[in-house]
Amino acid sequence: MRIVALEEHFTVPRIVSGIARDAIARRGFPGPGFVWSQTTKRNELADLGDARLADMDASGITAQVLSVAGPGADLVPGQAGIDLARAYNDALAEACARHPARYRGFAHLPMLAPKAAADELEHTVKDLGFHGVLVNGATDGHFLDDAAFEPILARAEKLDLPIYLHPGIPTQPVRNAYYDRLPGNFSFTLALAAWGWHAETAIHTLRLVLSGALDRHPGLKIVIGHMGEALPFMLDRIDETTAAEAKTHLRRSVRQTILDHVWITTSGFFTMVPFLAALTAFGVDRILFSVDYPFASNARARVFLDSLPVSPADRLKIAHGNADRLLRLAS
Ligand code: ZN
Repeated sequence: MRIVALEEHFTVPRIVSGIARDAIARRGFPGPGFVWSQTTKRNELADLGDARLADMDASGITAQVLSVAGPGADLVPGQAGIDLARAYNDALAEACARHPARYRGFAHLPMLAPKAAADELEHTVKDLGFHGVLVNGATDGHFLDDAAFEPILARAEKLDLPIYLHPGIPTQPVRNAYYDRLPGNFSFTLALAAWGWHAETAIHTLRLVLSGALDRHPGLKIVIGHMGEALPFMLDRIDETTAAEAKTHLRRSVRQTILDHVWITTSGFFTMVPFLAALTAFGVDRILFSVDYPFASNARARVFLDSLPVSPADRLKIAHGNADRLLRLAS
């Protein structure tokens, strides 16, 4: 079975070392002494060669669509950010060229320079063969509904390739108000993988709906991971409570807008209750297999894919068919 995974991450340590340490710390990334389950993956993240391929082979994963795990160019203003994003994209393109059947790419953009970011996106698609862009949460405290990012939304729509809304570390005021002052590493974990990442990415998605950004870009395609970042569970509630105002401010209901624009992946979520909610709320054509490697296990994701209570044809849609069509992976 052809299996494509599209929330799979890498980094390039020599590029990260070019980002100012205080900018990284301000954004909430932990220092080198911090020990946490997801900060122990540095070697796996940095490998774009044999070890990664061996891990994919062991679970029968055909191809990874790769994206940069932070810190990234969204922390670096001006020409330096533009150059840093280009360096990441060139490194990824090189890995893809070495293993074209196994590695594909999502663009990494200089988000603080949105016009240049739009141009970089087009360059990565047309010249490097990439398949869309992945954005790690807020940029300087702003989500993509901010007018500054309009060039990026417009370019992704024109290219007819998706923006993957990936979680980022919550901004400092949010961390302070919602997550700080808990024992041990609970503040960090709650702000990120245990809750904050997912709540924030759902909010990011909803802001694109409620701001009218998706009405202004009717062809824009959005991917979110983690089995829909709790939106499958919340969709009825959101739709009901926004229905009256949506008639004034939006062209469609919130539910319809989300179902028209959003695809979801299984990244990091390998249990049945959230899958059944996702399948019920979004339907099988909108669910794409992903792992979130190296933060999640290829092996566990594969066992989960094989266990899904769907027909053989629907399993193939989730494993590769939906991704092949959305990302134009065959072309
Ligand atoms: Zn991820």
